[in-house]
Amino acid sequence: MDNPYLDVDKKIVSEIYTSSEQMDNLKILCDVYGSRFPGTPGDFGSVKWMVEKLKGYGIENAHYEAFKLPGWIRNPVRLEVTSPIEKEFDCISLPLGLGGEVEAKLVFLGDGPVDIYEKRKDEIEGNIVMVTSRTPLGMFRSLHRTEKFRRSVLAGAKGWIFMNHYPSRGPPTGGVVPIIPAVGVSYENGSFLTRLLEREGEVKVRITTNDKNIEMTTYNVVCDIHGTSRDEEYVMSGSHYDGHDVSQGAIDPCSGTVTILEMARVLNMVKDKLKRRIRLVCFGAEEIGCFGSYNYIAHHEDEMDSLRFMLNLDSIGGRPGPKGVVLVDNPELEPFIEQAAKEMKTALPYYQRLSLYGDSWPFFLKGVPCGGGGNPEALRTRTGRGYGHTKYDTVDKVESEDLRLAAANYSRLLLRVANAEDWPGKKKTKGEIEEFIKQQGYDQTLALVNKLRDYVRTWKEIPPDAKTWLNWSEREECLCI
Ligand SMILES: [Zn+2]
Repeated sequence: MDNPYLDVDKKIVSEIYTSSEQMDNLKILCDVYGSRFPGTPGDFGSVKWMVEKLKGYGIENAHYEAFKLPGWIRNPVRLEVTSPIEKEFDCISLPLGLGGEVEAKLVFLGDGPVDIYEKRKDEIEGNIVMVTSRTPLGMFRSLHRTEKFRRSVLAGAKGWIFMNHYPSRGPPTGGVVPIIPAVGVSYENGSFLTRLLEREGEVKVRITTNDKNIEMTTYNVVCDIHGTSRDEEYVMSGSHYDGHDVSQGAIDPCSGTVTILEMARVLNMVKDKLKRRIRLVCFGAEEIGCFGSYNYIAHHEDEMDSLRFMLNLDSIGGRPGPKGVVLVDNPELEPFIEQAAKEMKTALPYYQRLSLYGDSWPFFLKGVPCGGGGNPEALRTRTGRGYGHTKYDTVDKVESEDLRLAAANYSRLLLRVANAEDWPGKKKTKGEIEEFIKQQGYDQTLALVNKLRDYVRTWKEIPPDAKTWLNWSEREECLCI
């Protein structure tokens, strides 16, 4: 197999494998700037640092774009059993949850499969639900925390406990909506509560949260490596840079963020070989609702037609194994990826699957061919996030070799997409988008957002934070919340 890009490939791969830039950048972003969660000092600090880094690589147009979002500030929280014993448990409140106090019976729903909320509505009504973070066995699609949360609230839950299903990893975090108080507990504490429930039949718990939901500003970092001839057309790759506030967010997302920076560095070195433009973006505020990518699209709407492909690299260094592509209903791209893998002498396994919960989703909704980096095999078997969304997602969990393979594979793939004369990617129509959502089993999941809004509007007293959420959730750049 001839490789028309052999010289460029050699330059890219040797640069990546003879440099420690990715790991060095990971350490700075995580150890110096912390979680980079919206509203923390490390958020804007890391953004300015990334822009300077990109300029240092020679990309003069690197800049940040600010936007507003409904932000959230963590405050002290309590979870107590009040009957039949009295005992306090370690817990953390979940981002965007409501500050307030609720005391009621505990209802444990296991992994919280889709049909359980309606089946046990009588028990759930007015009480506090606990579910695990595991995807229920036998599900084709993933069952996200937000879906379990929404279904619990719609069944009448007044408080919510999210139990880690991994032992020894503390309580999990993850964004919800400011409608009811919500907390995360460790596997060990959740297990204690389930044993107590089994032994006593009825257990009362009290959740007290004091979090504040307030408007904030955060950022997207954007840069372009210009093409030599057809610069108006472009290819894009991105990863969010914000981690959860309890964490360094080293795997999720920073292994992806530093891969974006590395691709910027090496692609800029071969820019004379690029026909079309490559745009690289580090999105802010993904963890609490993909605000960065929604806002990016709101501000770059007129550029969607000239966008060939969007590749999302969130958390790409988190797992060993091949770095392939998870496409979103783009079978027409499979031969292109096979050809690229042959030329590059690397494995680029692919798979077709929809995910609602990442920065490629808003692009999918615009009909742009898109996908995410990853190992399709691992995706088929995974039941949760591992260290992700816990305070143990730290720099020491990330391997240099994983970062390097990601940068080497995806920078060379982007180069090929940017240079292809006959790009096979097809824009989707509204009908095709809806059809794929249905086929993947997410149409009912999406309907939950409206159902939840209608449900909250029926409340006699709507807490002020919930009112603010209702207003935000009607804005086009916030469809996900
Ligand atoms: Zn992420």
